[in-house]
Amino acid sequence: MKKISTYKSAEKTAKENEKFFARLRKKKPAQLDTLVHTLHEEVFAHTDCLACGNCCKTISPMLTDRDIEKLAKHLKLKPSLFTEKYLHIDSDNQYVFNETPCPFLMTDNYCLVYAQRPKACAEYPHTDRKKFYQLLDITLNNTFVCPAVNEIVEKMKTKLHSI
Ligand code: SF4
Ligand code: SF4
Repeated sequence: MKKISTYKSAEKTAKENEKFFARLRKKKPAQLDTLVHTLHEEVFAHTDCLACGNCCKTISPMLTDRDIEKLAKHLKLKPSLFTEKYLHIDSDNQYVFNETPCPFLMTDNYCLVYAQRPKACAEYPHTDRKKFYQLLDITLNNTFVCPAVNEIVEKMKTKLHSI
């Protein structure tokens, strides 16, 4: 598995998490969405993203054409110029920012373009999305990025200890 960040707590439980996710893939527990969405609400109720910012510091969102249009308009740039200035195409053939931390992350962890941020930023870390079963690989990777995801996975392991 590709490790994509530096969030250290997940390193300790990486092997255990990989085994747990392998069991999830195989057994597909009923009500997985309900459980994960409940844990998402519980964990984000006490998570201060402004004290963290690790997602914006260490990984880039994928940007759609609509994201590029919105951001370019907001910055009063032509989409082609915005793309040339800020983006490149990655190995998955997706537009991503040229660098991390994100060029729009400010020193206090606020996002300079919050109202126009890419859809992938607004949806991160995806633990409240439907069909969580389809997001197992990305969630496992996100344990290395996001302390909240790591906490959600720890709680999932407790709740689903019997699988
Ligand atoms: S656009 Fe905003 S929310 Fe998205 S990575 Fe950059 S700073 Fe973070
Ligand atoms: S890594 Fe997770 S906890 Fe940290 S800012 Fe991003 S979403 Fe919030």
